[in-house]
Amino acid sequence: MVVCKYCGQKWKSLQSLRSHLKHCPERKRVRNQWKKYAIGSTTVCVITRSPKTVRLIEAEHRRLLAGHRHPAAFVGFCEALRQVGAIQLLRLEGS
Ligand SMILES: [Zn+2]
Repeated sequence: MVVCKYCGQKWKSLQSLRSHLKHCPERKRVRNQWKKYAIGSTTVCVITRSPKTVRLIEAEHRRLLAGHRHPAAFVGFCEALRQVGAIQLLRLEGS
């Protein structure tokens, strides 16, 4: 049994630990690999393993910047993605 030193999850082999490490949200957090989206003085910080999710957020963020989305709607969109597991970690900076 091997343990992920970032999140504490246990793995049966070194190989499965290695493939976990590519996506471990705690490891990404420690390494400060957040994707950041500015909304005025606040920044929405996201960690996700899903490129599709990144594309969805970027499209939504463009709508926000174009004035087609209220900032609160953008935050709610990200929070919903977190609740369904598409976003592993979500945090707001500033405000
Ligand atoms: Zn981990």
